[in-house]
Parts: sequence; C-alpha cells; structure tokens
Amino acid sequence: MSKSTELFNRAQSIIPGGVNSPVRAFNGVGGGPLFIQKAQDAYIYDVDDKQYIDYVGSWGPMILGHNHPAIKKAVIDAAENGLSFGAPTEIEIIMAEKVQQLVPSMEQVRMVSSGTEATMSAIRLARGYTNRDKILKFEGCYHGHADSLLVKAGSGALTLGQPSSPGIPADFAKHTLTADFNDLASVKALFEAYPDDISCIIVEPVAGNMNCIPPAEGFLQGLREICDKYGALLILDEVMTGFRVALGGAQAHYNIKPDLTTLGKVIGGGMPVGAFGGSHKVMQHIAPTGPVYQAGTLSGNPIAMHAGLAALTALDTPEYAQLAIKTKQLAEGLKKVAEETGVPLAVNYAGGMFGFFFTDQPQVTNFKQVCACDVEKFKKFFHLMLEEGIYLAPSAYEAGFLSLAHTEQDISNTLIAAKKAFSQL
Ligand code: PMP
Repeated sequence: MSKSTELFNRAQSIIPGGVNSPVRAFNGVGGGPLFIQKAQDAYIYDVDDKQYIDYVGSWGPMILGHNHPAIKKAVIDAAENGLSFGAPTEIEIIMAEKVQQLVPSMEQVRMVSSGTEATMSAIRLARGYTNRDKILKFEGCYHGHADSLLVKAGSGALTLGQPSSPGIPADFAKHTLTADFNDLASVKALFEAYPDDISCIIVEPVAGNMNCIPPAEGFLQGLREICDKYGALLILDEVMTGFRVALGGAQAHYNIKPDLTTLGKVIGGGMPVGAFGGSHKVMQHIAPTGPVYQAGTLSGNPIAMHAGLAALTALDTPEYAQLAIKTKQLAEGLKKVAEETGVPLAVNYAGGMFGFFFTDQPQVTNFKQVCACDVEKFKKFFHLMLEEGIYLAPSAYEAGFLSLAHTEQDISNTLIAAKKAFSQL
C-alpha cells in the first residue's frame, strides 16, 4: 500500500472525507489523493517520493513556482519578529500600496485571510452602500463558500454535484439571482425584473471554477454598462485571475474598471491572504470609517504581508511576460497532440491559466457547453497523466495553472505524456 493511501485511510477517520477542502479528496476523478511531502519550483513530491510536474500550483498562488527563495526568506525574516500582533504594522501599508500600484482601481484596500472573506465582505459592502439586498452571480462561477454565494456555484460544489448547498436558508438564497456567463441578455432580463433591488454583479472575469472560460468580446463591458444604468456595483472577483491573467489582473487585460475587486490566495504567495478594495467613495463605507462592519483578528498578518509583498515584487519584472507565453505553448501544444492522436479536444487559455475539454464542440464558451463535455474521459486522462508524473487539477471543472518556474523541458515532457495518454483513451 502506498504511503498516500495509508495516510488517506488514517485521515478519513479523523477529518471529514480525509481532507480540509473537498476537491482535494479526488472525488472528481476517483481514487485517493496524493499526500504531499514538499514542493520546489514547478514540482511537487508526494510522500512516496514521486516527483510530479505541477499544474495546480496550490490552486493558483504559485505563479513564481513553489518555495520561491525571496518569499521563503521574507517569511523566515518576518517570523524573527513575532507571528501576529493584532495591531497595525508598516508592512500592511507597503503591501496595500503595492496592490494599489498594480491594480489602480483599488484606491483603498482592506486585507482579509481568504478569498471567501474577500467576496463575502465585498458583497456586504455593496449591499450596505446601495441599500439593496439582491446580488447577481453567474451559474458555474465560484466565489467562496459564504451563504449568499453558494448558489449554483462552480468548483468543488459543481464537482460534487451540489451547486447549491443545504444549510443555506431559502430566505438568504432568494436574494441571489443567477444569470448565464457570457450571456448579457440573461443579465438584462434580471435587471428589468428587479431594477431597484440588485446591489451588485459579482463575476469571475475569466471563469476558472467551471474549467476555464474567458469572457466573450464585450461581455465584461456590457456588465459595466448595465451596472451603471441601474446603479449597481460591479465586483470583479480576481481571486484566481489577479496577477495571473495579467499583472494588473483581468481588469487590465480586458480594460474594464470595476467598483470593487476581490483578491485571494495569489497575493499571499502561499500564505492565507485575501483582500478587497475599490474607490475611496465606496471603501469609506467600511468600518471603522463607515457603518458596514467587517473585521479579522489575523487580517494583515505580518508574516502573510511580508510573503505577499515578496511575491508581488518578484512578479513585477519583465520576466512576467513569460507566464502567458508558456501557457500558450502548453495549451496550443495540447491541442496539437490531441489532433495528432484523433482525440476531439477544445482548449481555452488566458494569461497564466488554461483549460481543456473532451468534446466535439470546437469552442466551449458557456456553462451548458462545459456540462456537455465528457467527464469520464477526463477522469481517465487525469489518471494516465498522474502515472506519467503530471499533476493536473483533480476535477474536470477546474482551471489549470502554469508558473514562471515551468521550463520548456517541463512543457515538452508534459506534451509527450499527454500524447501517450490521449492515445490510450
Ligand atoms: N473566488 C474565486 C474566483 C475562487 O477561485 C476562490 C477559490 N478557488 C474563492 C473566491 C474562494 O477563495 P478561498 O478558497 O481562499 O476562500
């Protein structure tokens, strides 16, 4: 029995499902998860000492690759001074200034400790600011597990076939309206039905929790116009896309200015961090300046701030452009080897994220099309790739991530493995 299997058996008796976050359990692909020993650069190593080329990157943050020396040093140095104070520190200002420099629409920034906290807080602020109860989200988009947002959600909720969770009172869920991603008409219809009730639209600018779906031309601009027309706020949830689709996030890539932005895992460089921010005018409504309450004992934690600042500083170099180049190389390469082996495959990518779909459809641009793809084929492919030492996200509904540490050789080895796997499907 492998050590991973041994640990998984042991874990299941003390941790629900053996994991502290659902998709990790490999429910989406079958079999037990790998237990990880360590990670370095583009590679993770399991407890059985096998090395894998990693396209999960801790679900996004490892844009620089694992265990980047500057981040490791920042964490160790910061730890010398103590782990948490619950009082202001200068590093929080420097970090907020760095985020603001890279994402200028975030004129003011509030740090939190996860993506869920960021989106939950941004939604409360939008509701408090507009004095309206309803929110609009898109089917298949995931914004963390806060009550209002776990309605027709993507990611693990979709993988487990429970897009709307029990435990959320119908009285809460009724305030969450859902529209179809890349379909402006479905958004307009909801605003026409509730012209004075919708506080905000929250959207992943590139949907990454139902595989990877870039926005159709004009979709994000259309959302901006609808929000302006009806006095609602536009929240871009850049927990996944921030610093990944472009250094300035998807908002820079697609040239769209949101009222609020949410950020997550990426800005911690691997530490638990999130943030939300927007114009002074809106952010002034947050406590202690304004009446909308939001707080966190460990928010702005000094270790996390130092790690995050080191990560953002290391990303902010000309080498960053390589991320999109490498991603394109892998995505186009996958398409090519699929063609060569006669496997119908659609591929999407944006900046440093990508997705592939086993389907005859030439392009996958919406949730319905995602659901029509061949998940069984994905499961088989996933395990064949794992055997070849390639670690993909263990679900057909998650985006893949590259890092700057992935080498040409890594990409080429991945394509060789993929060709072999495709031919065995
Ligand atoms: N928003 C998006 C777009 C996400 O992808 C995620 C997590 N994958 C979240 C919010 C929630 O972040 P966290 O898991 O840190 O709570």
